Amino acid sequence: MSKILVFGHKNPDTDSICSALVKEKFEKNNGLDVEAVRLGNINKETKYVLNYLNIEEPRYIESIDDEQEVILVDHNEFTQSVNNIENAKIKKVVDHHRICEFKTAEPLYYLAEPVGCTSTILYKEFKRNNMQIERKEAILMLSAIISDTLLFKSPTCTEDDKLAAKDLASIANIDVEKYGLEMLKAGTDLSDLTELELINLDAKEVMLKNSKAIIAQVNTASIEDMMKRKDKIEEEMKKVIEEKNLDIFFFAITDIINSNSQAIVLGKKAYITESAYNVKLENNTAFLKGVVSRKKQIIPVLMEQE
Ligand code: MG
Ligand code: MG
Ligand code: MG
Repeated sequence: MSKILVFGHKNPDTDSICSALVKEKFEKNNGLDVEAVRLGNINKETKYVLNYLNIEEPRYIESIDDEQEVILVDHNEFTQSVNNIENAKIKKVVDHHRICEFKTAEPLYYLAEPVGCTSTILYKEFKRNNMQIERKEAILMLSAIISDTLLFKSPTCTEDDKLAAKDLASIANIDVEKYGLEMLKAGTDLSDLTELELINLDAKEVMLKNSKAIIAQVNTASIEDMMKRKDKIEEEMKKVIEEKNLDIFFFAITDIINSNSQAIVLGKKAYITESAYNVKLENNTAFLKGVVSRKKQIIPVLMEQE
């Protein structure tokens, strides 16, 4: 029997990597033969975390065999999952996103909560099972929560996320603000990425009501610096629109200091951005005040306008 593979979404973020590693530990403690893997490159923010803990990146996989047993964390939509997920045996899901076109042949464990981070759900699972949380897992979960909630500033952040983070910080004996800012800052260093890498870094393919969309996001400390690369970014976005036959490509450049986003939007349905946010797209771009969360402030808002 091959191992059960546990992984987060494509273009993995800190939650997808850290939660996979934590879930691996949890299931190993329960005697299961599991391996955390990843579906894409590790970003700099996540690298900061792995370096801090001096742990190796999980193994990269591109696709899986038919009947492979898997555990999904931080996603459920097949468009965001491993290639050939349709033919996998999904044993468990732990997730905090909308559930969309998800289907299995057999019963499964499905843990979903509308909290700010998958790791918050995992934290509760440790607690429910009276399982001790060690320092390494505490830092992994804490990092994921800081990342997904932008240090508790995102509208997705709940009381549960804050309580989990507080407890995890005390287990890890770590200064959350200091560590969190360093970690987020590490993720905003995008200078050595090409424009194509930029738009892929945190891109999610989603179906809106009737439109095929990619909603991509990058974190920055300076929207202005990022906008210097707008022409080349648009060139790459156009190529992806062609290739994937997208109706809309929405690229959010998110200022994590001031909690705003600058959106660059292309595709034949780009116009829905205007009514969604009551803005005008000028040269394919608009400033979106207070918008930082794709899950709460972009996907559902665009869907309403279709
Ligand atoms: Mg994620
Ligand atoms: Mg997440
Ligand atoms: Mg995210």
